[in-house]
Parts: sequence; C-alpha cells; structure tokens
Amino acid sequence: MSGLILTLNAGSSSIKFGLYDAAPEPEERLRGQVDGLGTAARLILGDEVRDVAAPDHAAGLAAILAALDPHLAGAPILGVGHRVVHGGADIDGPRVLTPALIETLSGLASLAPLHQPHNLAGVRAALAAFPDAVQVAAFDTAFHRGHPWVNDTFALPRRFYEAGVRRYGFHGLSYDYIAGRLAADFNDIAQGRVIVAHLGNGASLCAMRAGRSVGSTMGFSALDGMPMGTRCGQLDPGVILHLLAQGMDAEAITTLLYRESGLKGLSGLSHDMRTLLASDMKEAAEAIDYYVFRLTREIGAMAAVLGGVDALVFTGGIGENSPEIRARALSGLDFLGLAVDPDANGSSATRIDAGPVPVFVLPTDEERVIARATSAALD
Ligand code: ADP
Repeated sequence: MSGLILTLNAGSSSIKFGLYDAAPEPEERLRGQVDGLGTAARLILGDEVRDVAAPDHAAGLAAILAALDPHLAGAPILGVGHRVVHGGADIDGPRVLTPALIETLSGLASLAPLHQPHNLAGVRAALAAFPDAVQVAAFDTAFHRGHPWVNDTFALPRRFYEAGVRRYGFHGLSYDYIAGRLAADFNDIAQGRVIVAHLGNGASLCAMRAGRSVGSTMGFSALDGMPMGTRCGQLDPGVILHLLAQGMDAEAITTLLYRESGLKGLSGLSHDMRTLLASDMKEAAEAIDYYVFRLTREIGAMAAVLGGVDALVFTGGIGENSPEIRARALSGLDFLGLAVDPDANGSSATRIDAGPVPVFVLPTDEERVIARATSAALD
C-alpha cells in the first residue's frame, strides 16, 4: 500500500494534524496544528509558525492542505482519520464514516456540545477536500465500552439511562495508546490491574484490567472527576441547582464549569500548570494543592475499583512533565505500594518507582491511534 494517511483532531478553535505513511504500523512524516480558528489563526508545522486566514474549520483545513502540499510529493491521501469525542453507548472501536454514521454522530452533539460539532465540522471539511479517501472516526468513548453496569450508570430513574444519561468516559484514544504500549513493552504488567492518569488540559484516570477499561473518573461529560485547566471536575449537583435558583442560566453555567473553573478558577491566575508551579501566589499554590489532593483521591478510587494496583502510568502534559505533581500525588499512597524514586522522577526515566508497584511515565500519542485505525480500514 503506497500512499498517505492524514489524521485530524478538530477542536473548537484548533485543528491538530498528522501525516503518516500508510502501513500496518503507520510511520509519522510530520505533525502540526492550526490554532486560533475564527480569531487570529496561526499554522504551526515543525519550527514554522505563521499567520493564516482561517475563519472556520473548512478554511483551517484548506490552510493545512496548502502547507502539506510540498510534503506530499504527489503521493495520494488514501485515508483521513478523525478524532471524534462521542460515539454513544454502542460504538466500541473505530468506524468508517458513512453518511448514515455521520448523521448518527451529529445526533450525539447534545451529549458533547463543546467537542462533537467541531469534530464533525472537520469530517465535513475533509470529505469535501478528499472525496475519494476512506474517512475513519476514532472515538474517545469507545475504549470504555463494556464497563460493568455499576460503572456505567447514575442512580437516576432507569429511563434516563435508556435515554443515554450514563457514564461514557473519555480520553479513550490516549488510554488505547498506553494499553498498546504496555502490551508491547511490559506485557506481564499490561495483563494486570493498571491505573492510567491522563493529566493534560483535560484530565481523567482510567482503571484497566488486562488492557480493558473497567472504570473512569469521567462520566457523562468531560467535566467529571479530576479538576482540569478550566473545568471543575467532580461537583455536587446541588451546586448547579443552587446556581439555577440564583438566576444563572444554562449557558452561563456551561461557561462557568467548562471555561472558568479548575486550575484557572481556583488560582485566578492561569489554567496552565507550568505557570502555577512557577508562581509564588498563595492562590496558585492552593489550586495545585486541590489538584494534587483530587489526584491522590482518584488514584485511591481507581485502585478500589480494581481491587488493588499492579502498575500506575502518568501521561498527558502534566503527567509526562511534572515531577512535582507526580511526587506529591503519590506521597500519601505508600499503603498501596506506590512510591516515587526522586532521582528517576527528576530525570526523563520511563520507570520512576521506589516501592513494590511499578510507576511509569509514558508519553501518549493519540494521533498514532487514529492513524493505526485508519490504516486498518484501508486493508
Ligand atoms: P492537551 O490536553 O490540550 O493536549 P497537554 O497534554 O499538552 O494538553 O497538557 C497541557 C498541560 O501540561 C498544561 O497545564 C501545561 O502547563 C502542562 N505542562 C506541560 N509541561 C509541563 C511541565 N514541564 N511542568 C508542569 N506542567 C507542564
């Protein structure tokens, strides 16, 4: 098979992309992104950063294609792989996008209003640009399908579950990558009880048994569980009732919970962990204290879901790069056999444990999971 695969990860104001040689294990040629869609759009490709005119996703994709053209050297794009956040209750793996599936996925937009419409805008733009390529969707929810029912439901009247109000779980592409990496390099461990902490701007933890998700801190939406850059994490639903009674409407509450909370809301300074770690503001330190407290607590919860823990993996921007957060989160967890070796933790080591339970730092690669799924669909 000679040709290329393009991966697209379309968010509200950015499109991340990757270009791969189509092969069973796709080889990455390059990756980049357009950000600031609709405002001050920039294209980032390797070391090159330049302003582009991109008022919407179609224009963003056109800018990407223009930038990629010299790199294609005439080779055809055989497949385009898309990150799609929500696949609903039944989809448990990647799917080739058909008109009927796109319609079904559009119908799920109300379940992920801040992500799904943008993901599908990327799909539509790619269909127009590459009408002959196979278009594949890889879903953030798919890895969590098959959860035990107790981990899949809320204690609401059952009709709500039937109507789709259930715990879906997210960050599945990242967990899929980590499960594959463990299986390839540490297979004995991969067969056991593994907790993966994906700590990026969004954050969640996944409890895996034998490489399958059996629990997640994220639920119906990408708000639950860990506090994040701008999202609140776990919240008593009574708070929302209180805010409604105070006169806030759904739109204002949505903005509050998705964009103004988390590290940004608590610190009043920044959503960015690096900025908070570098700050001497009391509020920045307290935001980090809360983050670490919740991380420790969620690791404990995932260990209870699994009935013990055979390994812990840190990934995502914070998980991969912050020795301080890793060390502080585990400092109270030696009763689970989790402890950090300060020297290994401070270097870029893959294994950082000092206790009986292996602790890994593994960079995630969601784009590669999309590229693999797309390559498999070309066979
Ligand atoms: P996204 O979820 O948008 O893909 P990332 O996985 O890149 O985001 O994670 C972004 C987060 O990682 C930010 O809070 C950033 O501050 C944090 N981060 C990146 N590098 C470091 C570092 N060296 N130390 C602490 N935090 C870091």
